Amino acid sequence: MPEGKITKALSGFYYVQSGNELYRCRGRGVFRKNKVNPLVGDEVEFEFSNPGEGYILKVKKRKNELIRPPIANIDQAVIVVSATQPDFSTLLLDRFLVLIESKGITPIIFISKMDTIKEEEEKLIQQYKNDYQSIGYSVETISTKRSDDLSQAMDYFKNKISVIAGQSGVGKSSMLNAFNPLLSLETNEISRSLGRGKHTTRHVELIDINGGLVADTPGFSSLEFSELDLEYLPDCFPEMRALSEECKFRGCMHNKEPKCAVKVAVDEDEIPVYRYNHYLQFYEEIQNRKPRY
Ligand code: GDP
Ligand code: ZN
Repeated sequence: MPEGKITKALSGFYYVQSGNELYRCRGRGVFRKNKVNPLVGDEVEFEFSNPGEGYILKVKKRKNELIRPPIANIDQAVIVVSATQPDFSTLLLDRFLVLIESKGITPIIFISKMDTIKEEEEKLIQQYKNDYQSIGYSVETISTKRSDDLSQAMDYFKNKISVIAGQSGVGKSSMLNAFNPLLSLETNEISRSLGRGKHTTRHVELIDINGGLVADTPGFSSLEFSELDLEYLPDCFPEMRALSEECKFRGCMHNKEPKCAVKVAVDEDEIPVYRYNHYLQFYEEIQNRKPRY
């Protein structure tokens, strides 16, 4: 039975990439019965009908899925934060990181607009880069307005399904255009869907970047922790996750508890105090369930 990956969903059709061919498929009634809604990113089995067309018969088990944009089997989320314009915000970055971690997706951090920073800002950005790298995150700096070598940043996309995250205006669409000049035909459409955030989510499409697939609609744009239970918050901070065995109390929430290894690490500057403060802020926000961003 032929197999492939759904790369686009539009007007009731699923476009299935199989080898080098794209098949326009419909779902069979079986989906309605089982309440499985095929998603972009799904691995499927299908059968041919007319030339270039077919029916999807089976959706394979997903490793994860998002609702906005509706996409399955995401390997990584690339968070774009600009060095300036808008200013680099560790609070916003940490918020994206927690949202992505809570979905079991690997975050990658791209710091954009590196051409805009002054010398004194460069040190600060470098410091943040070090901080996040010591947590274990991959961090790349990029610029689309200089002749920067973007090949290292592009390497992340190879053979992966990626979602881009980041606030409006940080340069997400400029970056994708720089990565794939062949996208130029669709430039407007892409900048509209990535830039404005208001986008009909049914038309999500995966675009080709360096042999990988990237959703043309940004993810994690609601920025609210409405689906995250408080008990899972410590797990969304890898440096705290790594220490939790060392806290005196099992299930320590690293807040009011005595003999907490995380608080010791903050006191000893092993965990930056801003990371811990953001943790406490998110903690309170989830406890009160009132987004305050
Ligand atoms: P998006 O909303 O995240 O998709 O951001 P855009 O790609 O639309 O970019 C927002 C603005 O930032 C535009 O005016 C871009 O020209 C500008 N921009 C994007 N990347 C860079 C960069 O690397 N350097 C500079 N100086 N400006 C950039
Ligand atoms: Zn603790």
